[in-house]
Amino acid sequence: MTSSTSPVTLLGAGISGAACARVLRDAGIPFVVRNRGRAVGGRMSSPEVHGRRVDLGAGYFTVRDDGFRDVVADWASRGLVHEWTDTFTVLAKGKAPEQKPGPMRWGSPGGLRSLVKDLLADIDIDATEADALPAGHVVVAMPDPQASRLVEVPDPVDYDPVIAVALGLSADDARRLPFDDAAFVSDDADIEFLARDGARRGDGAPVIVAHTTSARARRHLEDPAGAVPTVVDAVAALTGIGAPEWTHTHRWTFAKPSGAHDRSHGIVESEDRLIGFAGDQWCPEGSPRVESAWRSGTDLGRALVDRLS
Ligand SMILES: Cc1cc2nc3c(=O)[nH]c(=O)nc-3n(C[C@H](O)[C@H](O)[C@H](O)COP(=O)(O)OP(=O)(O)OC[C@H]3O[C@@H](n4cnc5c(N)ncnc54)[C@H](O)[C@@H]3O)c2cc1C
Repeated sequence: MTSSTSPVTLLGAGISGAACARVLRDAGIPFVVRNRGRAVGGRMSSPEVHGRRVDLGAGYFTVRDDGFRDVVADWASRGLVHEWTDTFTVLAKGKAPEQKPGPMRWGSPGGLRSLVKDLLADIDIDATEADALPAGHVVVAMPDPQASRLVEVPDPVDYDPVIAVALGLSADDARRLPFDDAAFVSDDADIEFLARDGARRGDGAPVIVAHTTSARARRHLEDPAGAVPTVVDAVAALTGIGAPEWTHTHRWTFAKPSGAHDRSHGIVESEDRLIGFAGDQWCPEGSPRVESAWRSGTDLGRALVDRLS
């Protein structure tokens, strides 16, 4: 058996990997974190676009999980997150906008990536992509299609793509939008969600982010910018605004799991080592999101601590 004190290699610095790293660190289990690219956060992505950060992946998070609630309370006490809204609008072409109450959605003034950075604040990141499974105990904290390039994943879950398009608006157009915070778009072939990035981030910037349907995204995976004219037309038809001043596109080939594992994490014992799996697809309650990815990484970390301590 690989020594329990040899470092665990943790692949993936999204929120599931970050949550797992925190548990290992608190238990004194040695580990190293490797992430593809220097920017941690994965699908909680907040790059700088036209001079300010824009949330181009997850648009907000919810807090139903008691453990996650404690983490969020700590973030809130330090001003890293705030309650955004519990009411979204529903938009459909040719119909009046409707208000739809739901759970409280939370946003982050620094962008959602800042929360993963906070979890990993005192942890070094090796910014190299793994192209094979490293030796020793390994945590694979990423979508199953990415994990499957490295290792056989038990009952892998497929993912659907999304193309996110940020649109910089004139102040006039921003005022004319028929929703205050965000809108679910119903019965549209091209877009399914619109959010005011300035509202969720709290700076009021006239920037919205549109998420395409997976069907539209699939047609543009090779050339995501090719989706922009269709998205701009769809936004105009739904909201009545004119052409944006600028656009910025991001392709998420593996945006959302189309199914879910029936456990919060996986562990496979392979010859002399443990291979752990975490991510938003490890979501027995069937609603993959930021908080379930955090839960998955946390549960995997605790299970590894039990096995390795
Ligand atoms: C467009 C979009 C909208 C969303 N909206 C919401 C929302 O509103 N609310 C919500 O709660 N959730 C939302 N989500 C889902 C949420 O973002 C995810 O559930 C969560 O961020 C998943 O975290 P993760 O750690 O499981 O995976 P990821 O964030 O995907 O992290 C995986 C990490 O692994 C790295 N990696 C991949 N391959 C390798 C390799 N070979 N070597 C090293 N590193 C590797 C990646 O670079 C990445 O950093 C949205 C997602 C998308 C894409």
